[in-house]
Amino acid sequence: MNVERFGDISKITLPTTFSVGDVNVYVVKGDRLTLVDAGVKTKASWEALVYGLSQLGYAPKDLEQVVLTHHHPDHVGLLDFLPDGIDVIGHKYCANWLSRDESYLKEYVEFLRALYLQFGLKEVEFPLSQIGATLKVSCEQSKLTQVMQEGERLFGMDEWTVYETLGHAQSHLVFFREKDGSLLAGDHVLATISSNPILEPPLIKNAARPKPLVQYNHSLKKMLELPIHIAYTGHGTEVKDTHELVNRRLARQHERAMSVYEMLKEKPMTAFQVCQQLFPAVYQKEIALTLSQSVGQLDYLQEIGHIEAQMNDEGVLYFVPL
Ligand SMILES: [Zn+2]
Repeated sequence: MNVERFGDISKITLPTTFSVGDVNVYVVKGDRLTLVDAGVKTKASWEALVYGLSQLGYAPKDLEQVVLTHHHPDHVGLLDFLPDGIDVIGHKYCANWLSRDESYLKEYVEFLRALYLQFGLKEVEFPLSQIGATLKVSCEQSKLTQVMQEGERLFGMDEWTVYETLGHAQSHLVFFREKDGSLLAGDHVLATISSNPILEPPLIKNAARPKPLVQYNHSLKKMLELPIHIAYTGHGTEVKDTHELVNRRLARQHERAMSVYEMLKEKPMTAFQVCQQLFPAVYQKEIALTLSQSVGQLDYLQEIGHIEAQMNDEGVLYFVPL
């Protein structure tokens, strides 16, 4: 049994190939039968979805639309296996990822390559190959059919309001239902782990690089303004004390950044050096994630005016306390 029911919201838990473990998708019966998110594109995940739907009396062909919280592989992969013609709704940033637009992906790799060099990484091919591996379980022939943005009523689920919550992903949206304080939170709020602010290219080509942790903090604070009763999350259990959790996460992140600040007071460092020091045991295995996390702390410290970035002759950035 991989299904839990919460009134008109049903949670189906699906296996993934990632260290985060299972992913949660939700079936919501609004004006249209909606699936919120779709797990990784593997046989095991598909079978778990079909089984979960059957527990609810549905088959995949009964689904009328999929609403996406964001474009990461563990939330979109199974779109490729769903019946043709199903509506797919999400942030416009998802579009290039769902169809796996080749020229876009090339730009993405170039974007990361340039950043990694600036951050002091010498062997940039290795982390780039890790990204290729995660895309294997994403979708590649799907299409975003409807774009949603902040403040709109969610298509086919008109009790729900859309909030843009960039940070974990440049496409992240959450959906809030005022009448009972339900939040479909995706990976914006997770019960036991803090959500990773992942480095991704800007929505608008050649715009400044997004600072995902700074965005994430801003998006977390947005949640404090909503009377959230329960948050249905992308991984793990529901969150019943969202405001408390948000405040805890913000405080913890500030502490983490301040410990990076202390490290930089000893000597200026590159982002990669910070990463090695913060994550000595895992940085090689999870370089993209740990580097994103480290850059996040550095972006935050810059934002609050504690450090600045200085570029050396080789184009590498050193972070210096002020
Ligand atoms: Zn996820």
